[in-house]
Amino acid sequence: MCSFLMIIAFDFDGTLVDSYSCIEEAFYRALRRTYPWFPGKRYMAKLLTKIELQFERPRFGRHSGKIKAPMKIFQGKFARIWFEERAKLTKPLEGAREVLKELKREGHIVISFSAEDFIPGVKEYRLRQSGLYDIFDDVIIFGHGVSIKEAFRLVREKYGNETFVWVDDKPWRFIGNGDENTEYVWMYFPYTARFVTKEILDKIPHLHVIYDLWSLLDVLRRLSV
Ligand SMILES: [Mg+2]
Repeated sequence: MCSFLMIIAFDFDGTLVDSYSCIEEAFYRALRRTYPWFPGKRYMAKLLTKIELQFERPRFGRHSGKIKAPMKIFQGKFARIWFEERAKLTKPLEGAREVLKELKREGHIVISFSAEDFIPGVKEYRLRQSGLYDIFDDVIIFGHGVSIKEAFRLVREKYGNETFVWVDDKPWRFIGNGDENTEYVWMYFPYTARFVTKEILDKIPHLHVIYDLWSLLDVLRRLSV
């Protein structure tokens, strides 16, 4: 049992769920539904996956905080169907539900803190599809209109200055965000970990690294003593 209560914020993709390894299959299914006559759908799906991966890379400076659909194909009907198929194929990571419930049981404030998808409203839809939505005390989605900094300020206004534990598979998102009472937890996820460099990690104070969600409980135990 933790001796003091914290605000624990979770990113979604790559942190609580594996929504990455299904990207190619989701593209294939979306192509099959949208353009059934289209030849080379498997090849096309592979290509789209490569393009999508580029948008998972770290973005700094003027591009950070704003979410824009990278190409026409990531907007409109095709993208919507792709997200739908992706949501169907998404799987919670080992222990996701159990760890969230355990943290709630211990009395922590457990929030979902993630970036909007290319299409507004889709992230909330995917959160609901995952079955995790209702476990959270609050769901905060930044990106369209709300910057990550504004979202963080909102959390502070609503929940006070308790230790903010921020769990995310993209540690570059931590840089310049949060405050002195923030603990940064990098959830190692292979798909996005390939973009993490020593340079990025060196910029993050109070950094913890976990390779599975259960290990978060150990991090919190260490923070409570
Ligand atoms: Mg993520």
